[in-house]
Order: sequence, then structure tokens, then C-alpha cells
Amino acid sequence: MTRIAYSTGLNPGKYAALLEQVRRLGRVRSEVWQLYGSVAGVGSGLRDRQVRDQWLADGSHLQFGVLANAWKEAVRDAMGDIAANLEAAKVDVRRAVFRSRSDPSERRRLLAALRANRWAADPFLTRQLRKHWRRGKNRTHDQIVVRADQHNSYLDGYGRMWLAVPGLKRRQMARIPLSTSIAPTGTLRLILRGGRVEVHYQMDASQMRSSQRPCGDQTIGVDKGYTEALTDSEGAHHGDRLGELLSSESDRLKERKRRRAKLRSIANTAAMRGDHAKVCRIKANNLGTVKRNRQAAQHRARVRTEIFTAAHRVVDKAATVVAEDLTKRFAGRKTLGKNMNRRLAEWTRGVTAEALASVSERRGSALVHVNAAYTSQACHRCGRLGRRSGDRLHCTSCGVVWQADVNAAINILQRAGDPDIALHTPYQKVKQILKDRTDRHRTRLPVQDSSSVTAKRRANYPNRSAKSD
Ligand SMILES: [Zn+2]
Repeated sequence: MTRIAYSTGLNPGKYAALLEQVRRLGRVRSEVWQLYGSVAGVGSGLRDRQVRDQWLADGSHLQFGVLANAWKEAVRDAMGDIAANLEAAKVDVRRAVFRSRSDPSERRRLLAALRANRWAADPFLTRQLRKHWRRGKNRTHDQIVVRADQHNSYLDGYGRMWLAVPGLKRRQMARIPLSTSIAPTGTLRLILRGGRVEVHYQMDASQMRSSQRPCGDQTIGVDKGYTEALTDSEGAHHGDRLGELLSSESDRLKERKRRRAKLRSIANTAAMRGDHAKVCRIKANNLGTVKRNRQAAQHRARVRTEIFTAAHRVVDKAATVVAEDLTKRFAGRKTLGKNMNRRLAEWTRGVTAEALASVSERRGSALVHVNAAYTSQACHRCGRLGRRSGDRLHCTSCGVVWQADVNAAINILQRAGDPDIALHTPYQKVKQILKDRTDRHRTRLPVQDSSSVTAKRRANYPNRSAKSD
């Protein structure tokens, strides 16, 4: 788990010194990208240790004016970035292998060579990699990576945590006051952003207080939502402030966009009149990004808390959580572009998946992923596809109105033991299976009670007690 601590009340002199350090380290990273960010560099299996030895031998490191540990970590980090960049390109190369080679053993050979970075001897792979791996450049000019043995922290008499990290000169530590009372541990990544230092570090999840809480003993199905983060198969809602958080944020963004557009047009008019002082003023005071980024980070933190709390509530009850595989649903789709709401929804889905996986793992419950095709449309009692209106699902066959998300959660729970519908069964086949089942039911079972009075009563009290089996 990545944790972030923030500096608080850091004096401008110290910030400026750190800024100078990240600028110099940015140059180190740019040099690494420049020299090794290609097929001949990291692509050929070059290691950061080899680069360090070479720099030390030829004195390349002297030009940067930073301490040894700082540039060595920057080299390692930049090479890691390049390697990640390369892995992304390999996805395209793999696709090319499948397209142009039909022989299975030839495919296997190429994929194995690609995986092990042993592709240099193969002209096809080399060509493909050169084609798909566009030469990148360093975009990181705001970070310092500090090794675990290079920093220390202490609490002062006022209960404030101070973090000391190496400055630009030997034995000259920069002391940063933090807004937390927990000492950051392990390798730190310091990111300078908007006059503040963010300290990113990994925390062993088993150390967290919430990890000590045991899980429950039931098997529970959950459906993800946007009004509430999670609804479980017992009809309980968790994280019910999520909808409010998301919609108020979306309203706020819309309003701010409108205001910024107006300010921009005022600035443009001023520029045409030649009033450049005004243009600068508006840009500096009204169109900056510091506050905007800070508010966005705050909103993300709130949403995460809401969703993680919801996941904890479910695991309080469950030894096994059954859920839709939220990470796979839109994989392979094109980018979502500018549509704010869809991007927000996509991000929320990712956080929900992360929360379920992380909380389950930490507290020892099992997370089972199931195929969710038609779980939100089928009636959990008879399996027929119902009519959805808002948050209700009307099954014309049973004559019952279910709460749509509770119905979905029960369906998801039932999928866990479904002998015919596996995780990757295509949705068309799922539909056919559901249809075959209800057809069998129709010939075997007597007509269900669907008198209008009962239907109405059930509509008013939709819950599991209406389940007949
Ligand atoms: Zn039904």
C-alpha cells in the first residue's frame, strides 16, 4: 500500500533548495533516457549497476552536482521507467506476433524471446520493437528517491514529525515538517508539487490497524454501485455517501470550467487591448493549477475512504466475498476522452476493485470473481430477464419488484456456485443458458402466484423473504 505524507509549514528557503535538487536530478534522468532509452540501451538488458559503474569510471556523474546516492537512485528509477515503457510496447509486438505467425511453436519461441529480452538476434522482433517502441523522454523533474538508510525522522516536543533527507551537500540534511505523526519508512519518493513536499512510501499492510480486525464467517455477494459503493446479497448498503460525493464533485467541476472559460475570455480581450499586466495577473491568480490539483487530490481521498470503509463493512460479515471482476469489464476499449462522468465512473470502478482485493487480503477473507453478465437484469428467483426502471427491477413472470442492486448482489452470489456459467463464458452464451433454464422451468413448474394484490404487496416490500425456494 502506498501511503502519502505531506509537508506542512515548510519554509520557502528549504523548499527552494529541494527544488534545485529535483531540477538537477531531472537532468540525471533526462541523460539516462537520452543514452539508454532505446533498443540498444535498456532494451538490450542493460542494468542500472552497469550504468553506475560506467559513470563512475568516466566521471559522467560530476556534471550534475548532486550527491552519489541521489543520482544513483535517480538512474535506477529512470531505468525502471524506461523498462515499464518497453513493457507497454511489447504488448503491441505480441499482437504482431499473433497476427503474422500462425505456427504455434514459432509463436511460443518468439514470445519467450521477447519476454526474456533476447530478441536482438531475431530480425522480426527487432523490427517490430523498433516500430512500436517510440523513443520516449524523461518527464520527471520533480522527484527525489531516498533509500531507506539515507533518511531519519523524529517527533519534536509538540508532537510534530520531522523528516530529515540528504540535501545537496554532504552531511547537510534538509528537515521537513510533516502533517502526520507516523514516521515514513523504507524507500521514499519525495514529490515537489505546488509548494508542498509529498512523501510517498510503501507501508506493509499487515501493520495497519484495520488489518488486525478478523473477517466474518458468511459468504456474501456484492454489487457495485454509484449511489452506494456496495450492496450486499443480504440487502445492506455500504458507502452510501458515494453518490453524493461523485455528483457534487461533478457539479463543482462543471461550474469551475464555466468560470475559467469566462476568465480566459477576459484575459484574451485584455491581450488584444495590449494590457499584458492584466493577462499575467489573471493567469497567476485565477487560472493556476495548485489549488485545483489539491482539491482534486482531496476529492479522490474522500472517495477512496468511502469505498474502502464499505469494503471493510462487507468483510466484517464475510469469509468469502463474491463479486464481479471489475478490472476486466472495459479492458481493450478506446480511451474515454473528455467525458468527465465516464472517466469518473471508470476510476471509481478501479478503486472499488482495489478496495475489495486489498481489504480481503489484509483481513483474510477470500475474494471470488464471477461472470456478471445479466446479473443486473435477471430476476434472481426465476432467472427471467426483468424490466429495469431506476433502482427497481420488475419481474413480469413472478410479478415481483426487486430492489435492483440487491437482486444483482444475490445473482452474483448464486453465480459462485453456478455449474454452467464460468468466469469467462461469453455473455451471449450466458443469455442462452438463462433462457434454457427458464424454458425448462416453464414446462415443469406450476404457474406462479401472480395475482395483482400479492404483486402489489411484494412491490412495496421487496426483500428476500419473497424467495420461494
Ligand atoms: Zn422472477
